[in-house]
Amino acid sequence: MIFRARHYQTEELLDIICEDGVIVSVAKAGTRIPDYISDFVSPAFFDLQINGALGVAFSDINLDVSGILKVIEVCKYHGISAICPTIITNSHEILLHGFKTLRLACENDPSICRAMPCFHLEGPYISAEDGPRGAHLRQHVRIPNYEEFKQHQAASGNRIKLITLAPELQGALDFIRKVHQDGVVVAIGHTAASPGVIREAVLAGATLSTHLGNGSHAMLPRHESYFWEQLGSDALSASIITDGHHLPEALIKAIVRTKPLNKQIITCDASGLAGLPPGRYALWNQEIDILQNGRVVVPGTPFLAGSGSFTDDCVAHLVSLGIVSKNHALEMATNAPRRLLKLPEVKIQTGEIANMIFIDSNESLPFRLKHVVVDGLLIR
Ligand SMILES: [Zn+2]
Repeated sequence: MIFRARHYQTEELLDIICEDGVIVSVAKAGTRIPDYISDFVSPAFFDLQINGALGVAFSDINLDVSGILKVIEVCKYHGISAICPTIITNSHEILLHGFKTLRLACENDPSICRAMPCFHLEGPYISAEDGPRGAHLRQHVRIPNYEEFKQHQAASGNRIKLITLAPELQGALDFIRKVHQDGVVVAIGHTAASPGVIREAVLAGATLSTHLGNGSHAMLPRHESYFWEQLGSDALSASIITDGHHLPEALIKAIVRTKPLNKQIITCDASGLAGLPPGRYALWNQEIDILQNGRVVVPGTPFLAGSGSFTDDCVAHLVSLGIVSKNHALEMATNAPRRLLKLPEVKIQTGEIANMIFIDSNESLPFRLKHVVVDGLLIR
């Protein structure tokens, strides 16, 4: 198969030739007739926070391998070649079940293993306060417990590489130091910490703010707040949900112009309901609405319960705002999160298994996903 497109960074027009799923040649466009033509090519997306999709939630007691496959397949269609499946605040038993089932899925099939190179535990060690807690279930929020975490880590086969927690909780700073030493990336999120505690968390090893600007109180002190402290920290990468619902345009602009370039990450934070039509659904033992405009909310509250979008939608929205270049937005959703988690970058070069997305771009539609190749297979 010959794909012709401009490289997203260099803009050079290339012919990329794949044989048996492997890139065998990347060269200046020549005289051969390509099979697929599009405007731009980039590495496929990686998303560090996917909670599920199409009615499958990784935090569900009924999670099974077929559900995991369903999520991976829909993610691939959206150009996401790999995800960090994310399990959120729940009982010890449900967390164990989730990580064990994810591990079994990986052990059964090397291609699933490549699609889920590591796992994310978001909670249960987060703030119990309304606002910072977001849609996490209050009855399962608790203080950090390293012995419990080690059991989850064992159930996962040592695949938990990211944990989101609130550093103000009793014992949290010590917990951060321990898991950081274990090689787990620690993210600050769903927190009500003082700025001083945020600084201590960074010293203890935290390197990421999870969905900065969300999972927060509706009202914050104008100067001394966990939001400004995290925004102003050059040590913290920030993931942001640019789905058009979670953050207003001006705030996205402030974040991408403040954070160091290599520390900006897009996540879609897809909920277990992503990809489903509007309506009322049961998720995590509570009711969740998908509104007509695509917002996923806890009924009767202003609080969002994850998103109904995928990473490609988030990149398309950010590009449409005109705040950053297409190249910049793609980096935020491809290799920037891979680098944070110390995963190998995906490269478009000879000898690599093809993991590429092809994008069409014009003035009225600056970002349209056209073709996707994941794990060497043409998905769309
Ligand atoms: Zn969250």
